[in-house]
Amino acid sequence: MRILFILMLAGSALVAVACRQSTTVPGSSAGMTEGSTGATQTGNTTQTEEGSSMATENKVTKTDEEWRKTLTDEQYRILRKKGTERAFSGDYWNTKMPGAYVCAGCGQELFSSEHKFDSGTGWPSYYQPAMPDHVTTESDRTFGMKRTEVLCSRCGGHLGHVFPDGPEPTGERYCINSAALRFVEQGKDRGPGTEQ
Ligand code: FE
Repeated sequence: MRILFILMLAGSALVAVACRQSTTVPGSSAGMTEGSTGATQTGNTTQTEEGSSMATENKVTKTDEEWRKTLTDEQYRILRKKGTERAFSGDYWNTKMPGAYVCAGCGQELFSSEHKFDSGTGWPSYYQPAMPDHVTTESDRTFGMKRTEVLCSRCGGHLGHVFPDGPEPTGERYCINSAALRFVEQGKDRGPGTEQ
């Protein structure tokens, strides 16, 4: 009787593991949008483990002094000090050419012209990131507002904020500072450090 009970227990444990695997895989590759921090992916599948370990290997960490040397004053103020550029003042709010928007700090691809739309705000706006796991989000309660901050998942640079008033198909509006981005026209070399 006791052996039967142990066998049943082991069986239910296997089912539980299988269920977790089946829900982890799609969750890690799609559907991670606003609100999902994605900072701690602890999936059990090989696919997820590879993904998170690669993300860790690719992390870009620099000292404050190093960032000051490698970034312009405006890039440093926005990416590292969570600043905001003036509306209609940046390089990309009205850019309509096809291409990729990579992180000005580390080169990771963040947004695509395919998802860019004219929000009328004076900041480059996208309804989704190029890859769900290339950005992370954090709650931001500065300036008496409740907003969701958007950061580069590789270097932790501040990019802007995401709001739930965007167009279809996501209904989200990623409001991003031009100075946090570097535009690479379609077909052009993205430069070092821009592998996906
Ligand atoms: Fe970055």
